[in-house]
Amino acid sequence: MTMLLKLLQVGEPVLRDRARPLSSEEIISDPIQELISSMRDTLRDAPGVGLAAPQVGLPIQLAIIEDPPEYWTELSASELAARERTAVPFHIIINPRITFAGEPSLEFFEGCLSLSGFTALVPRSREITVECLDERAEMKTIRASGWYARILQHEIDHLNGTIYIDRMRTRSFMSLDNYKRNWKSESLEEIRKKFSN
Ligand code: ZN
Repeated sequence: MTMLLKLLQVGEPVLRDRARPLSSEEIISDPIQELISSMRDTLRDAPGVGLAAPQVGLPIQLAIIEDPPEYWTELSASELAARERTAVPFHIIINPRITFAGEPSLEFFEGCLSLSGFTALVPRSREITVECLDERAEMKTIRASGWYARILQHEIDHLNGTIYIDRMRTRSFMSLDNYKRNWKSESLEEIRKKFSN
């Protein structure tokens, strides 16, 4: 049975709280395993590439990520290459810690399910290393680059009460409709020039 959770929008206090870590016992418990399953249904329904527990009202350090190729149909081969977007299978990160992050020098438009209908240029690190637990409470080290690294940074930010608008180029903030109408086909170089603060 599919279980859809309510996606909270900016302004909900829980989106600005620092989420608490989960114990290994909690992670393998039925309520957390059920939460993971409901979050997966909710993410796929949205659809989106990442969802953090605070976005469904729970201040705990758990997020899910999935970026399958069927989500990229609107992107050209060169756009995919520029973003270094590659398939990321469904997986869970719990109590994540970024142990390495390069300079946040790559800028692309980014959105968030908790800021539905908007987008902005957000600088992110191209490469990061994350240490976390998985859904079996086992330690994992993730070395990510490109778009996957961006997704990880976005989701880990959520667990610390940070939203992309805290990091965006403020002048580039716009509705998704206007992005598609006015900017989607512009080169990123032109767009960056236009919106440099
Ligand atoms: Zn988000």
